[in-house]
Amino acid sequence: MKSNNILVINCGSSSIKFSLVDFEAGTHLLTGQAENLGAADGSLKWTGVSSGVKKPGKIGHEEAMREIVSVLRESGCSFVGIGHRVVHGGEHFSQSALVSPKTVEALRAHQHLAPLHNPVNLLGIEAAQAAFPEHPQAMVFDTAFHQSMPRRAYLYPIPYHLFSEHGVRRYGFHGTSHRFVTAKAAETLGRPLEDLALVSAHLGNGCSATAVLGGKSMDTTMGLTPLEGLVMGTRSGDVDPSLHKYLCDTLNLNLDEVSSILNKQSGLLGLSGISNDMRTLLEAEAKGDERAAIAVEVFCYRLAKAIAGLVVGLGRLDALIFTGGIGENSKPVRARTLALLPFLGLHLDEAANEDHGRGDRGIITRGDSPCAMVVATDEELLIARDTARVLAEKS
Ligand code: AMP
Repeated sequence: MKSNNILVINCGSSSIKFSLVDFEAGTHLLTGQAENLGAADGSLKWTGVSSGVKKPGKIGHEEAMREIVSVLRESGCSFVGIGHRVVHGGEHFSQSALVSPKTVEALRAHQHLAPLHNPVNLLGIEAAQAAFPEHPQAMVFDTAFHQSMPRRAYLYPIPYHLFSEHGVRRYGFHGTSHRFVTAKAAETLGRPLEDLALVSAHLGNGCSATAVLGGKSMDTTMGLTPLEGLVMGTRSGDVDPSLHKYLCDTLNLNLDEVSSILNKQSGLLGLSGISNDMRTLLEAEAKGDERAAIAVEVFCYRLAKAIAGLVVGLGRLDALIFTGGIGENSKPVRARTLALLPFLGLHLDEAANEDHGRGDRGIITRGDSPCAMVVATDEELLIARDTARVLAEKS
């Protein structure tokens, strides 16, 4: 019997997340994670059609990939191909691509754009090739969806040669999620995606919002790197570009230290001093913690401001989508953000918001259009579907 299963791999520097997805049924059969790779306490856990934990000790990415194969085999699971999440495809990749010597070479040429992510994504591809030489593979890029942005949205107002010669421009990220939820929103609204003007707000540990017109990304909040834009768990989002120099001069820091502050010690964590987790902050705020309240207030204000700005790129708004861990679960964040946007015609339906959306359409506002809605993202499913399509085109 022909399998509809695709193994989706998300490879990080010390972890490999995997999910076996039936791309036709849209179901996840087995999900798991290999963690602490390279350290003495490497481990593997999985759940789904079977569940368990293995503690193989010090293993690298390739051995972890073999452990994943044995878990799949022991669980009686087969698959027809492998889809890799890849963070940065630069301007070269505007859609998902088959893994081949040529595309791997092109990916290698873009390593400098995402030095923390792309080399480990490549490591994942190479480890999977070694562990599953008979399986075709595809790469699905976080940046690809945003390649449709017009130049007015992707260019920085800096000397043009920095763009033309060095590729310094806005690329945008979370493209897989924005693409998935906007298509899903069109489906649940019962309208063709081609006719819709949407803003999707992906609010998880990383946060970004995107303007999508007729199914195409027109603008987004993340830029050259995933640091630009909204307030995130530990990332600052937008700050004055002179901040680096100011901190270096006044606090005698070097650029790496400033970068670390902005990426790892800022955002919700930096403002609150407590946590990067929205749940913890809302609980602390309810108990009277002022700094937690400040963090949530700045988060919602900057989000609302970004959403209003993105509507400029659309000319109108049919629906605002909330997704990601915070967007799907946090009623107060949705309510407070919408309270800042009545001029867009968005008016919260409190009862619907309490239920995470009215009926099966997820709508949390009064009236039909424009509306705000909650849509659950599923990046692995979209990676699996893209991989299946790329493999079908090849054969
Ligand atoms: P993600 O990266 O999409 O998995 O989202 C992770 C974030 O979602 C966590 O850091 C939490 O801040 C947030 N989150 C998850 N559940 C809730 C909830 N019930 N209320 C508020 N925030 C939540």
